Amino acid sequence: MLSIEEIIEKCREQGMRITSQRIEVIRQFVGNRNHPTVEDIFKAVKAENPDVSRATIYNTINMLIDLGELRVLTPPMESRHYDPDTAPHDHAVCISCGRVFDTAITHKTKRSKKNLGIPFNVIWKETMYHGLCDECAEKTGMVEGKKNVVDKKRKPWRKQWE
Ligand SMILES: [Zn+2]
Ligand SMILES: [Zn+2]
Repeated sequence: MLSIEEIIEKCREQGMRITSQRIEVIRQFVGNRNHPTVEDIFKAVKAENPDVSRATIYNTINMLIDLGELRVLTPPMESRHYDPDTAPHDHAVCISCGRVFDTAITHKTKRSKKNLGIPFNVIWKETMYHGLCDECAEKTGMVEGKKNVVDKKRKPWRKQWE
């Protein structure tokens, strides 16, 4: 992702409207490695700008996606997470707390015909690792080898973990 000044410049060039609230939203994304959801950004911006609406957050997110400065991470996840690092890299998602981490594994963008067994042209590949972050692993007792206690309400994982 570009710096905040460069993004503002790019918006102006494209004739996109820049308001102080939008700048606050952009500021939340620049250098953010936490893969925030809309709610995360909304809470962070609201702390300083109580009048901000969810619509402003969504509009700014869509604007950044149009500019190629933000992308939606690949499902499966319960809410959409956004990543200001648009270069292909692998992620690890914690199935207990839902946090998404960057791994150190990055990929080059190159077109190739992979043996996927379907007529399909690969442009890039990314892998999502699923598991427990160290914090959650400790809480669930996984570290001591006890039974895993994963929140059963998180349905997508239910079968796997019962
Ligand atoms: Zn966790
Ligand atoms: Zn990432």
